[in-house]
Amino acid sequence: MNNPLLKTKLSDINLFIILFLITYSFSILIRLIWVSQFQDNLNFYWNDQLMINTNDGYFFAEGARDILSSVHQNNDLSPITHPLSQLTALLASVLPFSFESIILYMPSFIGSFLVFAVLLIGFSIKEKLTGFIASLSAGIVWSYYNRTMTGYYDTDMLTVVLPTFIVSSMIFAATHQKNRYLLMIPLAIMANQWWYHASAPINLSLFTMMFIYTAIFERQNNYFYKILLFMAIALIGTYFWIKLIVVVGLFSWFHIKHINNLRLILILLFSSIFAIVFTGGMNAVFLQLQAYVFRAETMDATNITLHFYNVAQTVREAGKIPFETFANRISGNPAIFILSLIGYILLIIRHKVVVLTLPLVALGFIAYVGGLRFTVYAVPIMALSMAYLITQIATYIENKPFKYLFLTGATIAILSPNISHIIDYRVPTVFQKNEVKILDQLKERSSREDYVLTWWDYGYPIRYYADVKTLVDGGKHNGDVNFPVSFALTRPQKASARLARLDVEYTELAYEHNRTGSYIQMMMEDYNYDSPNNFLEALQYSDIKLPTQTRDVYYYLPLRMMNIYPTVALFSNMDLTTGKQKRSPFFYQTSQFKEQGGMINLGRGILLNKAKGTIRMNNQDLPLSLFITTAYDRQGKLQVSQQRVKPNANLVAVYMKSYNKFLIMDRNVYNSTYIQLFVLEKYDRTLFEEVIMTPMTKIYRLRI
Ligand code: MN
Repeated sequence: MNNPLLKTKLSDINLFIILFLITYSFSILIRLIWVSQFQDNLNFYWNDQLMINTNDGYFFAEGARDILSSVHQNNDLSPITHPLSQLTALLASVLPFSFESIILYMPSFIGSFLVFAVLLIGFSIKEKLTGFIASLSAGIVWSYYNRTMTGYYDTDMLTVVLPTFIVSSMIFAATHQKNRYLLMIPLAIMANQWWYHASAPINLSLFTMMFIYTAIFERQNNYFYKILLFMAIALIGTYFWIKLIVVVGLFSWFHIKHINNLRLILILLFSSIFAIVFTGGMNAVFLQLQAYVFRAETMDATNITLHFYNVAQTVREAGKIPFETFANRISGNPAIFILSLIGYILLIIRHKVVVLTLPLVALGFIAYVGGLRFTVYAVPIMALSMAYLITQIATYIENKPFKYLFLTGATIAILSPNISHIIDYRVPTVFQKNEVKILDQLKERSSREDYVLTWWDYGYPIRYYADVKTLVDGGKHNGDVNFPVSFALTRPQKASARLARLDVEYTELAYEHNRTGSYIQMMMEDYNYDSPNNFLEALQYSDIKLPTQTRDVYYYLPLRMMNIYPTVALFSNMDLTTGKQKRSPFFYQTSQFKEQGGMINLGRGILLNKAKGTIRMNNQDLPLSLFITTAYDRQGKLQVSQQRVKPNANLVAVYMKSYNKFLIMDRNVYNSTYIQLFVLEKYDRTLFEEVIMTPMTKIYRLRI
């Protein structure tokens, strides 16, 4: 090897490192904007650190916490084997920062590694400036930022980084064609498999793309069959460690012995492809397709006789997105998106190896029909394409100062819509300090085997801060498990308390005895009821012998649940034999009201006539049954005064003076456990006892 060549190689590496450090730091610095916006607000702090801003993050945080303390309970759903929890626990045990700091900053520091892969593609195709401009923008583009911002502690921090690493190592190997670059590709694939259990379609499509590329352009080139071989081994459906040993062993052999025998390579390649098929490496694709296509049907099939609320339907409706949103997410603005597309076509024409990125771009574009969450996959390649268009135009500018002016201006132009999005994207933390304080108190007085009954939205944070079990959470909230929780929150106290106890005991029983199906179905079987309606009625009106109490059950009732009361009610406001919704409950709340000619205008055309005790809605005067006023006194006790108006009327008005809120509801809502326990603190002493009572959140313990 001659000296000048070696010299340019070395300076290439140095340049790469310098540009990487610049773009990596830039990506992290931009992610500190959120921190600077929130750092003065003490409500967002816990344990001297800002809290995270994604609900799901508390799931992985629970797992990491349990790995570190090596304490966890059967059936507590703590993800101690999840890669993110494991990685977090590892970082927390070696780095000198608090656990809170680590989960807060992990997305920024890990997600920003995307710039490495983008820069590597640029260097591989000898478009260094393109790589530099692209990696400046790729790290901070709209949808990528949203899912890797500071505090967005979720698996997203690597879900795009790893596939982009695979592609960049494929392009790097394809452009350099040295045996020593063969190892990076299978390692990147295996890292992706470890991180994301559903990564098989992405990995397989990248392999297929490489296969097609080889068949068209590089049929005569042995090196490409080696790339395919190493990719294929990584795709075999077997244990991580076995593949690692095989890959590293084969790599060493190829590298040291300079293996280049086409027959041998092809034999190994096709045996590996057979191995992929026979070990079920392809199955994941079909299973996933099936899951997407047949989602609704498979869910219904689990409950033969009962029809629960189908969550998948509501998810499905969120399908198609408008073009502008789609383009914003991928590039920051529609014009940049269109220009990026042109850049992509030019890039492929000029450097055909870039066509290997097609599966990622296609996956990103699936978002246009399949929903927002896929857009991120197209971000790095579209950033590269835009940057390429910019540098191509710059080559036509002869005058040097103008050329650099153009390059700088164009780069700022593609960064600015994304930066202004970032400045406006002020996502609050999931919980506020005073809410966490309450959970911390609950942790002190509860045991780790106790259950908290509340809506699924609060499941993960509650498990993390109070270390208790929950019935529903961000991952366990199908119609059948939501039903009893919804019922307990929106029905009268006796039925609520009894179903809460049953639900907790049956949740544990089902785990222990591996019983499948809905808990309600199991209860009906054990209590000999054929009709769910009769069973649910019996909970309120008949004698039912409850199972032995194996643990405590707490009701967690936050003020913020008031905003979602109609949604909570939806899940149990139905006939389980037919799946038909019953008449929807009437619940209206407002903080915007004003006196107006002896009436109180509550907005949306609703007027309250206090003197007459009527409500005017839809140009009708409806009588009130009760008018209630609640207010905290000087000692911080809630005082409730009520005026009976027309005993048989259906509507109840509540003026929550200390909250500056008016509620109008029908009798069923008024009798619900949530309203009685949270709004009025009118609870049956034989069923509940007070545990923690604050204006924001009230926690009761179940006594039966
Ligand atoms: Mn636990």
